[in-house]
Amino acid sequence: MNQTKVIIIGAGAAGLMAARVLKEQRVDFIILESTHRLGGRANTLKSHPHIEYGPEYLHGDTPLTDKLVERFGLTTYDVKFDYHYFKDGEMRATPDFWERLTHVIEDIDLKNDISFSDYLRMYDQNSKIDQDMAKIFVEGFDAADLDTISSKELHDMKDQVADPKVRRLRRLLNGYGELIENLAQDLLPHIYFSHIVEEIVWNRDKVTVRGAIKEEDIPFEFFGEKVINTMSVGVLRNVFISPMPDLLNHFLDQVEMGQVVKMIGEFHPAFFYAFEDHSFPFVASPDLNFSAWWSASPLHLPIVTAWCGGARARKLTAMTEDERKEVYIQELAKISSLSPEEVRCQIINIHHHNWDEDPSFLGAYSYPRVNYRRMAEMVTSFENTLYFAGEAFHEEMSGTVEGALQSGKEAAEEIATAYEMQNLRFEQSL
Ligand SMILES: Cc1cc2nc3c(=O)[nH]c(=O)nc-3n(C[C@H](O)[C@H](O)[C@H](O)COP(=O)(O)OP(=O)(O)OC[C@H]3O[C@@H](n4cnc5c(N)ncnc54)[C@H](O)[C@@H]3O)c2cc1C
Repeated sequence: MNQTKVIIIGAGAAGLMAARVLKEQRVDFIILESTHRLGGRANTLKSHPHIEYGPEYLHGDTPLTDKLVERFGLTTYDVKFDYHYFKDGEMRATPDFWERLTHVIEDIDLKNDISFSDYLRMYDQNSKIDQDMAKIFVEGFDAADLDTISSKELHDMKDQVADPKVRRLRRLLNGYGELIENLAQDLLPHIYFSHIVEEIVWNRDKVTVRGAIKEEDIPFEFFGEKVINTMSVGVLRNVFISPMPDLLNHFLDQVEMGQVVKMIGEFHPAFFYAFEDHSFPFVASPDLNFSAWWSASPLHLPIVTAWCGGARARKLTAMTEDERKEVYIQELAKISSLSPEEVRCQIINIHHHNWDEDPSFLGAYSYPRVNYRRMAEMVTSFENTLYFAGEAFHEEMSGTVEGALQSGKEAAEEIATAYEMQNLRFEQSL
């Protein structure tokens, strides 16, 4: 009989973190995972150099990630970018990149919320270049459509962009994959891979989860007392939940799944001799489909990442993989003053994962829509039975691995405490 105490849906950062806490607290659990691998959006190709299809940065303060990094003996390093702005065929250094975009976001002062594009059209008095920086940041960092994202929420993020400590960027020396592998140690016997959840039926302390095994299309059914959902909000909208809590519907109406196209070119080392100091700067450009470019700096690894987020990512997503690669080559040629042929003959591979079209994700990460209402306490559990974790359910750190880890930990701790109380009550009644 497929019976357990807690059913965790998803073996990404949130699901694995929740599982680790439950294992430490000796609460029975299983994990149902739709793909054949660990990590979800944290997806590292183990090669030399390693390739991050998804997250690569630790953004600002990441206390839980740091704790895990220490516990597993991993290494992080600081990233310092040499910021440049590319427009009308001209490259210029913009060491004040962060200050420029902070001006725009700090100035937002609204009674009623409007989209960021409306705000720029109606109120913003900043220079065109500052506006460009802010748009590239919002589309890039938040993966957001400028016509949909809440200006008020952006304004509330101003401390994040203004404080150098908070905007500190680090990477893991061997990528997020190593963190995920360590997190998943001893958890593998509990994980059912290729199990796609389609339906959750629940009432207090009673849960039935149904779905089908990928490719074989064999139905499955698991029974538990509690369930932790860590699917992205894009996927969650397609899962049948009965009864569906009103508050959850309300929350799903207020968040949007952002879009990102991240392409990572892997080159022959000689490619970098074309650049000053043999390194490639951070380039932001309003003219290009890929509005942000960066290298593995300060490490001298022969990779160049192209990033496109928000509405403009839709155009790239609609292309074939060959067409997207051609855009990568043409645009890299423009910013590096090389010919497309020169770029082409230095490329070993261009790596990419299509997050928007992958049914296990349906987008990159969440952002708040216009009129988003912060909830005093995020709606993450219903009747101590139906729990939600994952990046979208962490108010301060949504859209990050740290947020996903923290939300998974919090959900599992709440469940472990509930079981502890139950045991205590049982012992007292004896
Ligand atoms: C291109 C890209 C770049 C990013 N860059 C950064 C960065 O630099 N720094 C940072 O902190 N964050 C970054 N992020 C965001 C970060 O990756 C996420 O916030 C985090 O990994 C989300 O973890 P999660 O556990 O909430 O969700 P997921 O990783 O999505 O985990 C959910 C799991 O559920 C599984 N699942 C889905 N549907 C089903 C189903 N029906 N049945 C069973 N299982 C299912 C999925 O396969 C997945 O394994 C990036 C994301 C992307 C896409």
